[in-house]
Amino acid sequence: MPEHLVVVGAGQAGGEVATTLRQRGWSGGITLVGDELSPPYQRPPLSKGFLLGKLTRQQLYLKPAATYERFNIALRLGTWAEAIDRAVKELVVSDGSRLPYDRLVLATGGRARRLTLPGVDMDQLDNLFTLRRIDDVDALRPHFVPGRKLVLIGGGYVGLEIAAVAAQLGLDVTVVEAAERLLARVTGPEVSGFLEDVHRSHGVRFRLAATVADVTVDASGRRVTGVEVSASGVVDRLDADLVLVGIGMEPNTGLASAAGLQVDNGIVVDEFARTSDADILAIGDCANQPSAYAGRRIRLESAPNAIEHAKVAAATILGRPQASTATPWFWSEQYDLKLQMVGLSAGHDRCITRGGTDTTLSAFYLTGDRVVAADVISRPGDFATARQLVTSGRPVDPERLADSEIPLAQAAL
Ligand SMILES: Cc1cc2nc3c(=O)[nH]c(=O)nc-3n(C[C@H](O)[C@H](O)[C@H](O)COP(=O)(O)OP(=O)(O)OC[C@H]3O[C@@H](n4cnc5c(N)ncnc54)[C@H](O)[C@@H]3O)c2cc1C
Repeated sequence: MPEHLVVVGAGQAGGEVATTLRQRGWSGGITLVGDELSPPYQRPPLSKGFLLGKLTRQQLYLKPAATYERFNIALRLGTWAEAIDRAVKELVVSDGSRLPYDRLVLATGGRARRLTLPGVDMDQLDNLFTLRRIDDVDALRPHFVPGRKLVLIGGGYVGLEIAAVAAQLGLDVTVVEAAERLLARVTGPEVSGFLEDVHRSHGVRFRLAATVADVTVDASGRRVTGVEVSASGVVDRLDADLVLVGIGMEPNTGLASAAGLQVDNGIVVDEFARTSDADILAIGDCANQPSAYAGRRIRLESAPNAIEHAKVAAATILGRPQASTATPWFWSEQYDLKLQMVGLSAGHDRCITRGGTDTTLSAFYLTGDRVVAADVISRPGDFATARQLVTSGRPVDPERLADSEIPLAQAAL
């Protein structure tokens, strides 16, 4: 009898695993359960072209809605998966129905991390937002009016992308960041400084090494009017017409842990995307996976990883398990800059840059004589070579690496 696959989470990874299986000729039943109302869509443009108004909703979709019908994939949108009954292999969903499965894939992604301040209930505030889903952008867009004062809490990639869009749309933007520099967790000081300068040249202001102590609200109690910022023990107030909280995400692991699956900073999976129950797989942002590149377990929040991990799961379901050997990579867009990152820079012992101008820069992170990661800003040729250097682990000559006159490929020994 053909098997039935149920996928929880109709996002990048969930959509990808369902369609990949069909494209590879899998003939079993497929049901894709997702709480959002849109068919699977790409999240990266939410903080870029879609927020800027340059892309339509349909342009975000991974596949046109009709494709799921053609692929005989049952889409259960607007449906929350409540529980997994592992004893009888059924998924319990919000309308009370039970979906039997032979294999279950958890592609539940994550939710925006919330601001926790004593006495502040984010849900009661009409002009305080997070950005993770299409409906978040729908709610936010009417507030993106030139001249309005936006206080953006968090200077990570998503926060900076939103700052770039807001600045281009004429808002008055201040970014509050707890660390002493932007993107401190994921890049070196050279790239942090470069991006800070670019944003400042577009009028964005920064409050670095500063935390949010409180928010002030108007008499209705529903509108934020200001953000109290604490830096070196001194608290001052920023006026705000709207506030955006961009402080990262938390993986959606509740369903898995309630079902007794192993969870530790994500749903723990093996190299074939199998959880501690071999009939249940987990992929994408919600999964904690072994990484051949890192030599340890990692949980990655990136679209390329969601796609790659979906392919790993599809291979497992097809009975031809194949572990991923992918090197993590990620991209971002801010103003006219195209940022591409490969590898993980944590733990590097030195950073070498080349090609630094006001609009381009490549930064290579080395451990010993090997490039473990690179951040490339608007130098696409460098990125292709940087990827090869990181993936191959070939030793490099640091002097040649630093010399923009020498082709990058010739930096390898
Ligand atoms: C604003 C923004 C910008 C980004 N920009 C970039 C970028 O430039 N480059 C890049 O590489 N990555 C970027 N990312 C990250 C990238 O979008 C994610 O890594 C990717 O979407 C992960 O895919 P996923 O399928 O694992 O999770 P998601 O896309 O989060 O999908 C999970 C889905 O599951 C649903 N779900 C969860 N629990 C349940 C349940 N119990 N029942 C039903 N449905 C459920 C969720 O609502 C969601 O729809 C960005 C993310 C955001 C939010």
